[in-house]
Amino acid sequence: MSTHDTTAPQLPGYAHVYSGKVRDLYAPLGPDGEPSSDELLLVASDRISAYDHVLSSVIPDKGVLLTQMSLWWFDRFADLLPHHVVSTDVPEAVAGRAVLVRRLRMVPVECIGRAYLTGSGLAEYRESGSVCGVPLPAGLGEASRLPEAIFTPTTKAPLGEHDQPMTFAQVEAEVGESLAARLRALTTAVLARGNEIAADRGILIADTKVEFGIEDAPAGEEPRLVLADEVLTPDSSRFWRADDYEPGRPQTSYDKQYVRDWLTSPESGWDRNSGAAPPPLPQEVIAATRATYVAAYEALTGRTF
Ligand code: ATP
Ligand code: MG
Repeated sequence: MSTHDTTAPQLPGYAHVYSGKVRDLYAPLGPDGEPSSDELLLVASDRISAYDHVLSSVIPDKGVLLTQMSLWWFDRFADLLPHHVVSTDVPEAVAGRAVLVRRLRMVPVECIGRAYLTGSGLAEYRESGSVCGVPLPAGLGEASRLPEAIFTPTTKAPLGEHDQPMTFAQVEAEVGESLAARLRALTTAVLARGNEIAADRGILIADTKVEFGIEDAPAGEEPRLVLADEVLTPDSSRFWRADDYEPGRPQTSYDKQYVRDWLTSPESGWDRNSGAAPPPLPQEVIAATRATYVAAYEALTGRTF
């Protein structure tokens, strides 16, 4: 695994093993000083990414908010599949934003589910009437609710490259027929249940990326799928406000659409296609983005942050 520029803190008793765009991963050191091979400390930073860039600005408290939202969700899927969290007893320096997890082999496919049509899914639908090979009824448009949640996987592109849509047959070729079928069923089930729960709390989850880990099973048994990483957060999903949902136009969202909109506005002076790093975010964009993460957390969990 490669590691790119990161603000990953040094944690006594842990060896840093990897940094993604948002999370820093550490292996706990055993009494012999050797890194554990079956557990990881997953630390969510306050970093934010947009358009495949990690921004130079951070969103205060984002790591805690994402971690707490994922924890809130995990138990709500316990009857569908196990999750990766072992313990929330973590070093003081990363309290609230880290979890100790089972170290899993991650499924090499981005498992995306869509309940509403927008973004790249809408663009693909307009060209072909389908998304990732899933045919959809005619007449759908921006923010249309789909008859049921669909599985629209993509490749997991290396850092700096773009994920490409995959058909279900391509997923089957990549991971095998049985695993592909389970990924599809679980991704759509997580999204559908997520929407049932979130709707009562004023949130619509338009689409989401679910990360699954694989745990080897005894010979003759199917490998087990485990819900890993983060789940149904505004980073992995598009959260919309249910009370002003209106298909046919872009929706008000709880996610980082605010950041994306500023970055692509003339004000930022940034050309998305230039390959240049995006500029730092203005203070008001940082504050507004933090407020949307807090609002999502509070609406969902019913707690005050
Ligand atoms: P990537 O790092 O794949 O480019 P990303 O930048 O979104 O994606 P982060 O969310 O910042 O990644 O980092 C989390 C990383 O940890 C991801 O690579 C994810 O697949 C991995 N991960 C999450 N949970 C587990 C687990 N239980 N075992 C092993 N790896 C995990
Ligand atoms: Mg991630």
